[in-house]
Amino acid sequence: AKTAGRNHYQFYVAQVDEEIRERKRLEKDLMRALPDNQLHLVYQPQINLGSRRIVGAEALLRWTHPTLGMVPPDRFIPLAELNGSIVEIGRWVLEEACRQAAEWAAAEMPLHIAINLSAVQLRQGDIVETILNVLKAYDIPPGRLELEVTETSFMENLDSAVEKLNQLKREGVNVAVDDFGTGYSSLTYLKRLPVQHLKIDKQFVQDLLINDDDTRIANTIIDLGRSLNLDVIAEGVETEEQEFYLHSRGCQMAQGYYFAKPLPADDFVRFYASFHHK
Ligand code: C2E
Ligand code: CA
Ligand code: CA
Ligand code: CA
Repeated sequence: AKTAGRNHYQFYVAQVDEEIRERKRLEKDLMRALPDNQLHLVYQPQINLGSRRIVGAEALLRWTHPTLGMVPPDRFIPLAELNGSIVEIGRWVLEEACRQAAEWAAAEMPLHIAINLSAVQLRQGDIVETILNVLKAYDIPPGRLELEVTETSFMENLDSAVEKLNQLKREGVNVAVDDFGTGYSSLTYLKRLPVQHLKIDKQFVQDLLINDDDTRIANTIIDLGRSLNLDVIAEGVETEEQEFYLHSRGCQMAQGYYFAKPLPADDFVRFYASFHHK
């Protein structure tokens, strides 16, 4: 039994060791991702449930690693946040999404474009200036940009976050609280932050009609949105029943595999055309 225990322990150490090696490797390879053009964006349609029109697109980052293939953002973004490379990568995301939005606007697809803004980016002293400069460079009306920020981003320095988001709001940029309800949701934040949207996290949408707790949480977020005059957008909608429920309950917008997966830009254009001609 003793040897078995030790073997188990050694196995465990080897596994942790392997994980650390893998993280180090990804962290190092991440430095090449941007200069070597290994990053690209995919776009998930955001649908207004009332008009049933595509009103926006969320830009989501993809990394094709030269030997490992597709590495999911949940895996590499935390590493990029740790070593700070998220600042440069996030700037590229902003710029690429705006470039795409400008191209679409020129093709008579004036969509809102949502990007995920990391807490690390929000902490940068020049983030407001960076965002406004990119909008100007691509001639995007600020009201067409939506920044998705998680609640944890506000925790460290609420005053500074409020100030930055207020500056952006004055210019017309919209802010959505992403993954609402999964972090340290606090009504204090919501009251102080200049936000226009709440996003119901997909974990609450997935079992919406199966799990009573999730139904109640989704209902609460929708009601909260209504009383604070914030539009609510549900993420992770996979079925017609979920769409129907959310819409009838007063949720204004949705995105999810039921409508479309995050799509490469070309596919997005085709999807956009076919969706509106159904
Ligand atoms: P998120 O912002 O909460 O994005 C929603 C995630 O749900 C995306 O995963 C999306 O592909 C996925 N999703 C959308 N519809 C459905 C559905 O119907 N069912 C299911 N099961 N999943 C759905 P993805 O693209 O893997 O991104 C994961 C997370 O990585 C994002 O979560 C976001 O936090 C982060 N992320 C992605 N791109 C960026 C970026 O450019 N910058 C930053 N800072 N974070 C990013
Ligand atoms: Ca998001
Ligand atoms: Ca997230
Ligand atoms: Ca989410």
